[in-house]
Amino acid sequence: MNLFEKYDLSNELVSSIKSLGFSKPTQIQHLSIPHIISGKDVIGESATGSGKTLAFGCGVVEEVIPKKGLQALILTPTRELAEQVKNSLKELSGQKHLRIIAIYGGVSINPQINELSYADVVVGTPGRLLDHLERSTINLSKVKLLVLDEADRMLDMGFIDDVEKIIRKCPAKRQTLFFSATLSPRIRDLAGKYMRNPVKVQARRMVDPHKLKQIYYNVPKSMKLSMLAHLLKHEKSGLVMVFCNTRKTTDFVVKTLKANRMNAVAIHGGYSQNKRSNTMHLFNDGKVGVLVCTDVASRGLDIENVSHVYNYEIPKDPKDYVHRIGRTARAGEKGKVINIICEHDHDNFRRVLSEYSFSVEAVKRPYLERLKTSGHNFPRKRRFLQRRRLRHN
Ligand code: AMP
Repeated sequence: MNLFEKYDLSNELVSSIKSLGFSKPTQIQHLSIPHIISGKDVIGESATGSGKTLAFGCGVVEEVIPKKGLQALILTPTRELAEQVKNSLKELSGQKHLRIIAIYGGVSINPQINELSYADVVVGTPGRLLDHLERSTINLSKVKLLVLDEADRMLDMGFIDDVEKIIRKCPAKRQTLFFSATLSPRIRDLAGKYMRNPVKVQARRMVDPHKLKQIYYNVPKSMKLSMLAHLLKHEKSGLVMVFCNTRKTTDFVVKTLKANRMNAVAIHGGYSQNKRSNTMHLFNDGKVGVLVCTDVASRGLDIENVSHVYNYEIPKDPKDYVHRIGRTARAGEKGKVINIICEHDHDNFRRVLSEYSFSVEAVKRPYLERLKTSGHNFPRKRRFLQRRRLRHN
């Protein structure tokens, strides 16, 4: 029996879920779908990859009537997540043929204005949605379902004012759903202001040590890249994500890997939307095995088969560490997290370990061949010698 049948869902929706290959609800789905379907406001505490999109997707697909104007609005923090949610909702809506569009910045606004004239469901980032509101190119008067996806991330990214402006433009009589990896006081405040007697559900955050192994190497700063390259060459991996804290380091790491004939691509917030989408395709299709990225890529994206997450730098905020490692060991698969730390990371790493009781094993550094580097981390003396050599050549 398909366990989704026990909820009060239409036969069409159950068969869409079946055709996606799901027969058993995840914990967040089990806890939230009955409330969502009964029209209640819900706050769901659950991480990326927990199946929350399908949970609120059930509400969207059951509630929205095709060709009756924009009835469901989903806010997401990033463009990538907006695209991903749009695609998941399209799959879920199956034969109902809802017109679902994604709206975000970094691309031309005119095609969006056209799409908005017929959309039933909009998934969008706050900045561009507000832009449309100011131009009166979006009409929220018929919205009956409002979803904030990755609400904590949205607030972390400074979207609070935009989000509130958008919420206030939606009709008061509506259902509101918040999904968030963490329920910070700010999220609770927002819920207090804009939700009606919300039901709170929480999916357990689990890091299963049998599925996810976490280790670290403590190396001098100048050996970090050599360590990374060594592991990329010697670890048996599927898709690999390498996280850096800044755009500059991301660019530097990818450039050096490429210069050493390793196939890698990079993604961070400084690239155009086109470049980001192309990069994600290359990586998702397995054409390039290594994605070097900032935290832009750590949240929300549903990338399958990531076997290894490397932290080339440890993030300042321990929450980001949790989001990064959530990219691997998904859907019952195994995963490995490798932290390459130097003295500079010790404070951040200590904060992660004191906030979360992960077991992260120290591993002794193997013999490393020094990698050829160039750019901002290149040791001064060697750069000077290289320049002198160049001048002499
Ligand atoms: P999320 O980002 O929280 O929406 O989670 C999306 C991931 O959960 C995708 O990889 C889906 O394929 C997976 N997923 C959603 N529902 C189920 C389910 N009932 N059983 C197994 N995997 C699921």
